[in-house]
Amino acid sequence: MLSVLRKIVQEVSTAPDLEAVLDLIVRRIQRAMRTQVCSIFLFDSVQQRYVLRATQGLHQEAVGNVSLSMTEGIVGQVGQRAEPINLEDASRHPAFHYLQATGEERFHAFLGVPIIHHRSVLGVLVVQQVEHRRFDESEEAFMVTVSAQLAGIIAHAEATGSINSEQHPQAHVRAKHDRHFNGVAAASGVAIGTVVVATLAAELETVPDKPAHDIAAELEAFRSALDAVRDDIRTVSKGLAQRLHSEEQALFDVYLRMLGDPALTDAIETLIRAGSWAQGALRDVILVQVRQFNAMEDPYLRERATDVRDLGRRILSYLQEGAGPVSIDCPEDSILVADELSPTMLGLVPEEKLVGLVSVSGSGTSHAAIMARSIGIPTVMGVIDLPFTRLEGRQVIVDGYSGRVYVNPSDKLLEAFREVMREERAVAAGLEGLRDLPAETTDGYRMPLWVNTGLVADVARSLQRGAEGIGLYRTEIPFMIRDFFPSEQEQLQSYRSQLEAFAPRPVTMRTLDIGGDKALPYFPIEEDNPFLGWRGIRVTLDHPEIFLVQVRAMLRASEGLNNLRIMLPMVTSVHEVDEAVRQIDRALLELQDEGYQVLRPLIGVMVEVPAAVYQVRRFARMVDFVSVGSNDLTQYILAVDRNNPRVAGLYAAYHPAVLRALQYIARETRKEGKPVSICGEMAADPGGALLLMAMGYEVLSMNSNNLPRVKSAIRGVSLARAQSLLNRVLRMDDAEEIHQYLRQTLKQLGLGQLTRPKLPHQNP
Ligand code: PEP
Ligand code: MG
Repeated sequence: MLSVLRKIVQEVSTAPDLEAVLDLIVRRIQRAMRTQVCSIFLFDSVQQRYVLRATQGLHQEAVGNVSLSMTEGIVGQVGQRAEPINLEDASRHPAFHYLQATGEERFHAFLGVPIIHHRSVLGVLVVQQVEHRRFDESEEAFMVTVSAQLAGIIAHAEATGSINSEQHPQAHVRAKHDRHFNGVAAASGVAIGTVVVATLAAELETVPDKPAHDIAAELEAFRSALDAVRDDIRTVSKGLAQRLHSEEQALFDVYLRMLGDPALTDAIETLIRAGSWAQGALRDVILVQVRQFNAMEDPYLRERATDVRDLGRRILSYLQEGAGPVSIDCPEDSILVADELSPTMLGLVPEEKLVGLVSVSGSGTSHAAIMARSIGIPTVMGVIDLPFTRLEGRQVIVDGYSGRVYVNPSDKLLEAFREVMREERAVAAGLEGLRDLPAETTDGYRMPLWVNTGLVADVARSLQRGAEGIGLYRTEIPFMIRDFFPSEQEQLQSYRSQLEAFAPRPVTMRTLDIGGDKALPYFPIEEDNPFLGWRGIRVTLDHPEIFLVQVRAMLRASEGLNNLRIMLPMVTSVHEVDEAVRQIDRALLELQDEGYQVLRPLIGVMVEVPAAVYQVRRFARMVDFVSVGSNDLTQYILAVDRNNPRVAGLYAAYHPAVLRALQYIARETRKEGKPVSICGEMAADPGGALLLMAMGYEVLSMNSNNLPRVKSAIRGVSLARAQSLLNRVLRMDDAEEIHQYLRQTLKQLGLGQLTRPKLPHQNP
């Protein structure tokens, strides 16, 4: 059964549209289960009814024409209970509702299972048989499994269908219903603009729809890509001629024949002539062939699906090579949409044109999101169901407050969001005046506000906003946008510019923190659990040559300025601290021997893992300062991957366990008389900042974009009020309750505008 299931899922996932998806599902399940009927009812949210959308065994005319309300029939019952109903004779069930147009009167046995995606019932999958019998346990288990696996594909196809059936943005007629897709609010703000889809390397499924601007050029590109692949195959074939049996060698001939097959090339060229760009035409034709081969009974022919896909990807990679950067024809207000937004992708659209970001995967603490916040670009991450390949050129609204993306919005909605943007501008203008004022509470407590940096532009922005130091310079970011490790000299230059720009203010440089979701293209780390794997200090201690070069560059850069602080990420044990400090001292001595006038910098550790929380006093004794990385600390305390959109709802910065850990760290570090700061995203939230100040954090470091808001919050309260707020919050058991309470308190303090504006979908 497992192989049948796998095959169905494989086949269905390459079907071109919802109708094809549903049709394939009913046909394959009917055959696999040897039932007379298999049907799918999908819930129509406008009609609020379950509509028969595909069937094998019932009258085809009924498809699209019969439906049941949410409380009608056994289908309605399955939907309401969200669990299977298995009946020997459906007509005897009290909820039975006879649907005449379907011709179902002959069938007695009935098994209906809900199709559930993200906790909501999308529809009901039904099998029926003439005989009186209960479907057995293994049949029921099979249906439940198929349904669970197919729910995501159905949801995706449904979303794609709804997008495609709507008018193109340039058309005068707009959608009747404002369709939105939910994700995670990753960088606040609202953006309205036109989608530019970031293309990914050689993945057929992620090729977006785009028109051919120049048909002749697209045809030419396709033909030369084809030639290039042919040449590659011949070269490989020749190279292996001595080592392969003639039988295996023949496989290359098969490949070459497939490439020359007019069924393939003509079909692609026809689509290009009809106006598609070459990559889109290739995607369509290859995926149809993959599907056809996949559906074949003969295992040998089925294997050809893999070959066709492989060839398609090879051609695609040549097409992508010649395609040049996407930025060439970016519209004025571009919204960059990607399957998996990475920090390097932000460069695909020129900065002055980029107004919003959307990613299908990832979450609010993915590094792309952190960078987006630092640049101040509204961003929604983890929009799992977004049919992103179909969105090129469409108008969308990115609501970075609620984590929603609206596709082809109505004029009314556009106007409502424009109003939100006007409000935002007014608040930002009001905050501008704070630049030269201190972050001081109404009872005179002075809270230093520092910034997190990484991008070159961060420095100027941070100084403009009145930052008093750098609490975290993510040194890995300049490493990520290169092709190989930068030399000591190159690192020296970029570190010097940060240190100089901020001198005499302190600059905290974190040693290389790669691994997790921060991959260097030239130093790939492939692991099953990257966030529990080779990350941060673990990598650099294993590669002293990388660590020492970096530390030397930092130390040399600080010559004469002496405002450098070095910080160690992802520390879990005292040995790591010992070892790293020893290496720093070694680099220092070497440099002094070489004649550089460098002083020993302050050295600190980041508390990012639970082990470090419980040993924080011990660590504090070994170093000069402690800084909390609450982004990672939250993910490790809650066991929630900060990058996984499926569990993004569980990633709660205000979880009571996290707050307790934060309070404990501040108290314990202070007992050792060492300064304690925080550089996670929590410090950038006005409510979070008040709690952290009350806990005794001596420095808050955040993205420069949020600094004025945090300053305004601090200036609007007394330390005593913040402390009573903390006491109150620490008695609460639920993250959401705490979050709401913080918002409400800010409102009462007259600081409501610092949280978020009222959005169109919110009730008054
Ligand atoms: C953190 O984990 O809170 C942190 C500041 O580091 P990063 O987000 O770069 O992992
Ligand atoms: Mg971290």
